[in-house]
Amino acid sequence: QVIEKYRGRKGTLLPLLTEAQAVCGNWLPANVLALIADAYDVHLSYLYGIATFYTMFSLKPRGRFIVRVCESPTCHVLGAETVFDVLVDVLGIEEGETTPDGLFTLERSSCLGVCEVAPAMQINEVVFGNLTRDKIVQVIDRYRKGQTVDFRKLSGSGGRVSRDLDVHRELVLLHGVGEIDPESIDDYLRIGGYEALKKALTAMTPETVVEEVKESGLRGRGGAGFPTGLKWSFTLPLKAREKYVICNADEGEPGTFKDRYIMEGNPHRLIEGLIIAGYAVGACTGYIYVRGEYALSMHRLQKAVEAAREKGFLGKNILGSGFDFDIEVRAGAGAYVCGEETALIESIEGLRGNPRVKPPFPGVRGLWQNPTVVNNVETLANIPAIIVRGPAWYRSFGTEDSPGVKLYQICGHVNHPQIVEAPLGLTLRELIERYGGGMRDGVPFKMCQTGGASFGFFTAEHLDTVMDYASMQKKGGALGSGTMLVMNEKTCVVDVVRNILYFFQHESCGFCAPCRRGTRVLYDTITRIALGDGRESDLDLMIEVAHTMSATANCALGMSPIFFVRTTIERLRDEYLAHITDRKCPLGVCRPESRKHP
Ligand code: SF4
Repeated sequence: QVIEKYRGRKGTLLPLLTEAQAVCGNWLPANVLALIADAYDVHLSYLYGIATFYTMFSLKPRGRFIVRVCESPTCHVLGAETVFDVLVDVLGIEEGETTPDGLFTLERSSCLGVCEVAPAMQINEVVFGNLTRDKIVQVIDRYRKGQTVDFRKLSGSGGRVSRDLDVHRELVLLHGVGEIDPESIDDYLRIGGYEALKKALTAMTPETVVEEVKESGLRGRGGAGFPTGLKWSFTLPLKAREKYVICNADEGEPGTFKDRYIMEGNPHRLIEGLIIAGYAVGACTGYIYVRGEYALSMHRLQKAVEAAREKGFLGKNILGSGFDFDIEVRAGAGAYVCGEETALIESIEGLRGNPRVKPPFPGVRGLWQNPTVVNNVETLANIPAIIVRGPAWYRSFGTEDSPGVKLYQICGHVNHPQIVEAPLGLTLRELIERYGGGMRDGVPFKMCQTGGASFGFFTAEHLDTVMDYASMQKKGGALGSGTMLVMNEKTCVVDVVRNILYFFQHESCGFCAPCRRGTRVLYDTITRIALGDGRESDLDLMIEVAHTMSATANCALGMSPIFFVRTTIERLRDEYLAHITDRKCPLGVCRPESRKHP
């Protein structure tokens, strides 16, 4: 039945595998893969290549409940290894094993996207955060008794949300979040929803929409910061039978959790932005590619798409304008690299998420070889406000280099990890003290990884850096996705960088040698240092390898390690050296390998 549902539909291999896995009890038996290969007329080895690429698929039997422990850098510094040890103890199984009663399988996840409640774990679709031993024991006990949680009944992102009230009295990105019923389109309409779409379709041409977005100075909020209007202007004039717009809702960058608040709290805002983007570039279809771990986001987006269709905001001849456009929500299946736009496109096409060699860029040749614009969730959530209030209003916020508003995220060793909507230009110190509530337990600040797991580290001398694109870059950091992982004096830099390098070697897609080998060499080298077997020359080796990767790798994943390898070795060199000369971790944090290598 599942095969029949998808047969003949373009690019549906991933949704089919996802649904088949759910029907088969959380795994994909060999005979089911053989049936799918037959139905799709693909070689079985090709199908295995896809199924083994995505970490959420399993080719061996799993329990009814999959317990995934988040091992992102944020969870790591807040005790993920302890959480894992407790689960090993409570469940009586090791990583990858299933309890004899068939109830639980224990796994790790590179990141669950819930840093504001770290350390965290997920049981099937439901996240449990701020874990302690007692809480873990209670949760597992409840599941053993059959007292499970239905994720569709959860209220959603329950973390703290702040806004900068001094200069920013109206919410743009979080407008309605936490106030309206996210499953009610009428609630969204009541707060001005779909007014921007009406204005764009009835009073503006695609050219004027693109022009206004250009004038607003909006830059991509996924991490790269590319000007959004400029991106759209490349695709608008192209003649093609079909064009596409894709919302990148993969949000896999460790430390990042902002897009989830928009998708869970006000999904229509994103949908409205995506329809306007489609109108602006002449697209017929939009895709929202949501990371597989975000079940509630997916559920809310799907309901919102249906409601928008019923109200005539999607479909044929929208609002009588002659513009046809519809949206499909797609789920990822656990591959960080699919956040890279061409890998994401490959994944929507039903393939392994290998980044493509560029050029051509997606704006010219993207999905199904057609012109395709890919924008991040937060980027698109800005669009309705820009259309209604105009580019000059939007530019009145932020800095010259980085106009507008931003969702900053603060996590790690602060009292109040949370997201903050503020004009671009807060300093890191303000973010920590005014919103983060200061350092947790009063333990002094030591360092901060800026922008996400791919970027550089700041130390105390950088605390007054203005957090916009140019200022952050000038100081060796990055605004990135706007997340700041704050760490205190008790954190070992070698241990954290080792955790991040494990992530990179695990998530490398393996397509190009510099990244495939380089990430592994970096991880092995820092492991040697962490365990007291390093040499001073290892530090030069790490910089040289990371530098070579940045110059030769095919995509941003392989180009990234240089940022955090170089900044930590330069700025916290003494701590690296202490591991090497004393042959042990000076803080007693680094511990032997506890993971299985892929
Ligand atoms: Fe794949 Fe890494 Fe090469 Fe990117 S840089 S294509 S992730 S191997």
